[in-house]
Amino acid sequence: MSSPVRGRFAPSPSGYMHLGNLLSMLLAWLDARSLGGELVFRMEDLDPARSKAVYIDALVEDLRWLGLDWDEGFPAPGYAQSQRTAIYEEAFRELKRRDLVYPCWCSRAERLAAASAPHPGERECDGGCRCAHLSAKERLALEASGRRCAWKLRCPDQTITVHDGHYGEIVQNPARDVGDFIIRRADGVFAYQLAVSVDDLMMGVTRVVRGRDLLSSAPRQKWLIETLGGTAPDYCHAPLLTNGSGKLSKRLGSLSTEFFRRNTTAEALTGRLAFLCGLAETAAPVSPRELISLFSWEKIKRDDIAL
Ligand code: GLU
Repeated sequence: MSSPVRGRFAPSPSGYMHLGNLLSMLLAWLDARSLGGELVFRMEDLDPARSKAVYIDALVEDLRWLGLDWDEGFPAPGYAQSQRTAIYEEAFRELKRRDLVYPCWCSRAERLAAASAPHPGERECDGGCRCAHLSAKERLALEASGRRCAWKLRCPDQTITVHDGHYGEIVQNPARDVGDFIIRRADGVFAYQLAVSVDDLMMGVTRVVRGRDLLSSAPRQKWLIETLGGTAPDYCHAPLLTNGSGKLSKRLGSLSTEFFRRNTTAEALTGRLAFLCGLAETAAPVSPRELISLFSWEKIKRDDIAL
């Protein structure tokens, strides 16, 4: 019989992972393993323009090197988002059938932002765009122009509460606080919010552990999963690592795990991460497995962690 607890790794191969990504992976692994659960590894290579084979190879190697194993998933077929378009199509059709989706003709820059997870400072397509309120005549004219449209989800005007396992109650009214958001780009690529919700639902994920920059996405994902007939997972967000200029970014290229793999040992890096996040009292080298019995969300810091 399979275990009822299923966590996941869901990295995006849009750069080399940095220490902050690794901390989230370590905590996702410790959370699932300390509960006697399984882990699914999903490759979030949704955006073909940003996903690179070299980053896919590097992040698989990073996880193996660190000693974070998984029970199911990548590189087995069907666990990369680029292979799951037909599954997203089906959910998209269902949302369309229920009149929860409408075409949006807004600018390309806004559409591009929608395919990746919305990290702070990256604006999502403005919920206030006019596309939801076009007259039949305007809509026909836009359709006839031959310009391709993106597709937006009508946000629910209702209060959604997520009980985050680490940050407590998150209350959001998506219509008011976020606005309608793109679930499919004009180039046909499905957007982050749809793909992640469908995947967590279809893959039977029961625990989502990831950086707290995605905290505000949890209510929308919960709503989408429930709207598609599923039960939302438990969410537990993790603090972010920051340097002098804010949250670590793959684009900075610094503090990448590639660098650490060449210059330190997996145990030394795990010890440093465990100390930084509050799990261990010293930064002494340790393996992820040795941390399982020490793990508790109560020990993990809530504030962002400066390096
Ligand atoms: N793939 C996303 C990222 O690497 C994380 C998505 C998620 O955990 O929901 O930022």
